[in-house]
Amino acid sequence: MTALVETITYRATVTDYDCTTSVQDLTTSEADALIAAALFSENEVAIAPDWSGRITITCAVTGPRSATDPASVTVKRVTVLEPVHVPRLSKRQYADLVLIREREWMATFTDSGRVGCGLRGSVPPAATARLIERGWILLTPGAPSSPSAPSVAVSYGGRLAMALYEHRTAGNGLVTFDPDFSVHSQAGVYVASCACGWRGPGNSDQVAFTRGQARAHREEQVRAAFTA
Ligand SMILES: [Zn+2]
Repeated sequence: MTALVETITYRATVTDYDCTTSVQDLTTSEADALIAAALFSENEVAIAPDWSGRITITCAVTGPRSATDPASVTVKRVTVLEPVHVPRLSKRQYADLVLIREREWMATFTDSGRVGCGLRGSVPPAATARLIERGWILLTPGAPSSPSAPSVAVSYGGRLAMALYEHRTAGNGLVTFDPDFSVHSQAGVYVASCACGWRGPGNSDQVAFTRGQARAHREEQVRAAFTA
């Protein structure tokens, strides 16, 4: 069987309750376990509103300042996960991740290094190796007691990259006529739009306004990728 090599896909910077900072390299499975635990504990999990793929986990604890001082104080532990690779997918990688996500219940890492997804198809070895190296899929080995091919799932980083791919927004589309528009201009007005088909609820002759709408749409959709 092809050996499972765990590559480093994140750099984690942890600022602890006592304000000390440490840096740690994480594999995809380590990062995913951290994110899953944070979501389960309802800690704040924030995704950067840009293409960096940065994920910030904040754990806040409130309690007395000390044994002798009952004044309530809140301390925070902040973990910033910076992906080694920018979460930009090619069209092919996006299609491969869609296939794996749809067939997660049966996707396995085969002896030849493919992701097998049953009759629906498979991801070739070179493409699979790239998805692993980027941290976009997560391989879970079978239990030692019943050895089986590792199962494959799209990682949190992969889900984030998929959401960014699906929601490529533009805030500066220019249109000159639309019966719904409240603003009319010979020179045209701006409208926000997205690759998913969404279009901004308003229009403006101020491009900053429609860019803001586009950004808000993308942020909302990317956040949803972690809770779906
Ligand atoms: Zn969209």
